[in-house]
Amino acid sequence: MTFAELKLDDRLLTAIDYMGFENASPVQEKVIPIILENRDLIACAQTGTGKTAAFVLPVLHKIAQKENRGCNTLIIAPTRELALQIEKEIQGFAYFTNASSIAIYGGGDGLGWEAQKKALTSGTDIIIATPGKLISHLNMGYVDFSSVKHFILDEADKMLDMGFVDDIRKIAEHLPKQRQNLMFSATMPESIRKLAREILHNPEEINLALSKPAENIDQKAAIVFENQKIPLIQHELKQRKHYESILVFTSTKSKVSEIVRSLRKIGLDAKGISSNLEQDEREKVLQGFRARQIRILVATDVMSRGIDIKEINMVINFDIPHDAEDYVHRIGRTARVNARGEALTLVTADEFHKFRRIERLIEQEVPRLTLPRELGPPPEIKPRFKKKSGNKKPYSKNYGKRPQGKGGRKPYRNNTNNSKGG
Ligand code: AMP
Repeated sequence: MTFAELKLDDRLLTAIDYMGFENASPVQEKVIPIILENRDLIACAQTGTGKTAAFVLPVLHKIAQKENRGCNTLIIAPTRELALQIEKEIQGFAYFTNASSIAIYGGGDGLGWEAQKKALTSGTDIIIATPGKLISHLNMGYVDFSSVKHFILDEADKMLDMGFVDDIRKIAEHLPKQRQNLMFSATMPESIRKLAREILHNPEEINLALSKPAENIDQKAAIVFENQKIPLIQHELKQRKHYESILVFTSTKSKVSEIVRSLRKIGLDAKGISSNLEQDEREKVLQGFRARQIRILVATDVMSRGIDIKEINMVINFDIPHDAEDYVHRIGRTARVNARGEALTLVTADEFHKFRRIERLIEQEVPRLTLPRELGPPPEIKPRFKKKSGNKKPYSKNYGKRPQGKGGRKPYRNNTNNSKGG
């Protein structure tokens, strides 16, 4: 479906054209008409599906169609990186309209308090804010949200994980009762549904992502000893010198430095990003990566959702994400709309049960990578005995089959562990 068929304002169509988008993505096809009809919406859609444009375009359409006084739209995002990303996309689409937008977030750079106050009180059309910073302003009593028509929660699941639920409730109290509410979430646990029941009115529901990675991601998993991880990524990355953009995710800041050092040692250009860096340094590194000046970016999990960069060739999970849903998020950086991507996950024997949880979540068995001979044999994954109630049916027809390759690993038929945690 073309964007013109969605009956968007001509000025937006021109901007869309400039941005090189040819057709609306499935989430845009479904979401845009609902927003244009002023219905509330709860949408389960991952990053990478084009969800930002799906809510930004119809809102800009409405702003472009009529004269507006005061703040029209409030978008709440969990991290400053995401808030900035949304604002950037709005600025692109709004180029030929006179809609204004501003991102309000905490931290070193960005607008100072006074400038934020001014933006919040001078009728900027679209405010994109992180919850904590917005609450600080709301507490001062000068913010007037009486003209807000759209309240948008992006990555609602992440906001709940980060403990922002009360802030969201409090922000909603400052908004007019008559408004359109839109909630986007990569996953739909009960906690999200509960919040949705509180905030949304008779919403349309769209489910485009049942916690499954996009089909155009070529996923692989390597079962390794911890000390095989660095040599393995060195080996894999040496073979991919033609890749322009590679993201490596790891669990801790200290590992970021260790991985960066090991890659530089073999002549690969890599940079690290973690909360150790100041906000402006982080932005600089992200910009370098975006501009293809940095080829390999090593990041902590915390950074994973804020990195919206198109056409990443490969994502490497140096460690298993703690949360199975985060796997989907992390590898969602690659294979964005209309592109192919690769995802490699390194799994130690200790992490294997977590990896099985991921496989259950995504309902697929990720093909195993055979280690290069010089790295030695991989660890053996010992089958576990079933629990009494563990009479679970396998989800995949390949379940329990010997993984491909010559690794000689044991099948892991009995390795179903339904427990939480880890
Ligand atoms: P999102 O899911 O909003 O994070 O968007 C993922 C990426 O896809 C962003 O970089 C967008 O600029 C891009 N994108 C969004 N919609 C389209 C589209 N219809 N065609 C091509 N790229 C798109």
